[in-house]
Amino acid sequence: MLGVASTDFNDTILHANDAFLSMIGYTQEDLQNGTLRWSVISPKKYDETDEAKVEELLRDRTIVPFEKEYIHKDGHTVPVLVGAETFDDDLRTGVCFALDISELKELERKKDDFIGMVSHELKTPLSVMKLQSGFLKDAIEAGDTNEQREFANEIAEQIDKLDILITDLLNMARYRSDDVFPVSAIDVYDCLSEAVRALSLVHSGRTLSFEGKQGIYVRGNSGRLSQVVTNLINNAVRYSKPDTVIHILAEKDDQNAYIKVIDQGIGIAPEDIEKIFERFYRVNHSDTYKNTAAGIGLYVCSEIVKYHKGTINVESEKGKGSTFTITIPLIR
Ligand code: ADP
Repeated sequence: MLGVASTDFNDTILHANDAFLSMIGYTQEDLQNGTLRWSVISPKKYDETDEAKVEELLRDRTIVPFEKEYIHKDGHTVPVLVGAETFDDDLRTGVCFALDISELKELERKKDDFIGMVSHELKTPLSVMKLQSGFLKDAIEAGDTNEQREFANEIAEQIDKLDILITDLLNMARYRSDDVFPVSAIDVYDCLSEAVRALSLVHSGRTLSFEGKQGIYVRGNSGRLSQVVTNLINNAVRYSKPDTVIHILAEKDDQNAYIKVIDQGIGIAPEDIEKIFERFYRVNHSDTYKNTAAGIGLYVCSEIVKYHKGTINVESEKGKGSTFTITIPLIR
């Protein structure tokens, strides 16, 4: 919603629409009784910019929109994109437009964190591998086969970490929110059994138990749906102990197809449950589960499920495990 307010080029806000007021937590009453003035909502650090912009407005009758902040009535700052125009020949009133860009700024911040995190997590395994390959060389020269095996295993572990991270990055790069992919009638059962078969080979030490019956038809893209299930199963593997079983179910009722991925892993705390589908969100884990993930997998999953006109949700209990359920309407 676009906030609109008019000014007399002094400290007074003459009129403001409800969108402008709610953005900064004020009411029409505050405006009438003079509580709400530009100097109250504009942080001091923008004084110089604001003056320059007023000059620009008086000179050009318009300004190039710029980013600044307003102070909300409760004290927090609201990032805004501000533009202004004046129509008056004698330049007594200006009209100011403000757009709340909090969400955009938050996404920018997460993206910066993400780039920092990815650079760090790509660099760490590389440094470790460099060190270990030096040790491996020494062990080869010394003819110590035990040490050779140990260092080769450690290098392989680092390669696995890099593999997970790079797969996540590729998934994100492959997926753009305006992506269009072809859809046709597909059997959820076939799609899942193929994905589970492939993943059983990748996670050869784990038990993936798949149950379901053929004939669960939805309109979708089997490649993308496998990508979603693969991601959920990889997470289930990542966040549960090796000796626990992961159940994958393909079910239906009269209306919908249901895909369930159930693990008996570390679970997700209630305060994190709503956020895990956000882009770049990662739960802070204990050391065992650190350094393996980029926080984009579930975001991509939820976008792909939305494209299938479906929903994805999770029930989870800390220390007990998680059940991810995807619901997609059946073809009628
Ligand atoms: P990541 O790439 O970090 O795994 P995701 O978007 O796939 O990103 O998941 C976001 C967060 O949700 C993860 O960091 C993890 O903490 C949590 N999570 C996802 N799946 C599970 C699961 N099966 N069990 C416990 N926690 C999970």
